[in-house]
Amino acid sequence: MEVVPGVHAVKLRSCTGYLIVEERLTLIDAGLPGSRAPLVRYLNGIGRDVSELDRIICTHGHPDHIGGVRELAAGGAEVLIHPEDLAGVGISLQEVMRERTRGNLLHFLTPHPGEATPIVDGDVIDVLGGLQVVHTPGHTPGSICLWAPRHRLLFTGDVLQVRWGRLTYASAFFSHDYPAARAAVARLAVLEVETIALAHYGLWQRDAHARLQALAAAAS
Ligand SMILES: [Zn+2]
Ligand SMILES: [Zn+2]
Repeated sequence: MEVVPGVHAVKLRSCTGYLIVEERLTLIDAGLPGSRAPLVRYLNGIGRDVSELDRIICTHGHPDHIGGVRELAAGGAEVLIHPEDLAGVGISLQEVMRERTRGNLLHFLTPHPGEATPIVDGDVIDVLGGLQVVHTPGHTPGSICLWAPRHRLLFTGDVLQVRWGRLTYASAFFSHDYPAARAAVARLAVLEVETIALAHYGLWQRDAHARLQALAAAAS
């Protein structure tokens, strides 16, 4: 479904991927392994082809966001991810045993995306008139949000979620560092956001900017 002109929400396995349809294709998040079939089906429905997929941007290194990367990038798409999460998913069992945190275990269980290009805070990706990388660590060390100022559209991965009908902070259980995840919302509250594209809860458009400001204030 096209949710914003040129941006389609595609139901992948266990997460919504956001497909940016321009001359070529860019996908934000790749779902669990097995996400190739639903993406191919969707692309066929809009008259496009998976061979046009140039780029997969990963909001973070959890299995429901990067598990499908290898199969989707098999045609040569470039994979972009923050270096902290790329390093994280390469963690060895010995390292997990040495530092037994839930975050390390989650990373250990995540399929490695293979070769990837690091993206860091302040980078601008050449889609949607300039898509800015905002590093928002906490849910994972390398969690990023993606900000398209021209559309006032913010992709947040798992940095935000909806609970009881309200927009709120990342999941405490699944976050590597929950206080940091809460604090990271301050980075988003300064943006003039109109639409938030969430990885598991669709779009949030109700007073988005004011809600982010309230969350940032409550976190500090
Ligand atoms: Zn996550
Ligand atoms: Zn997720």
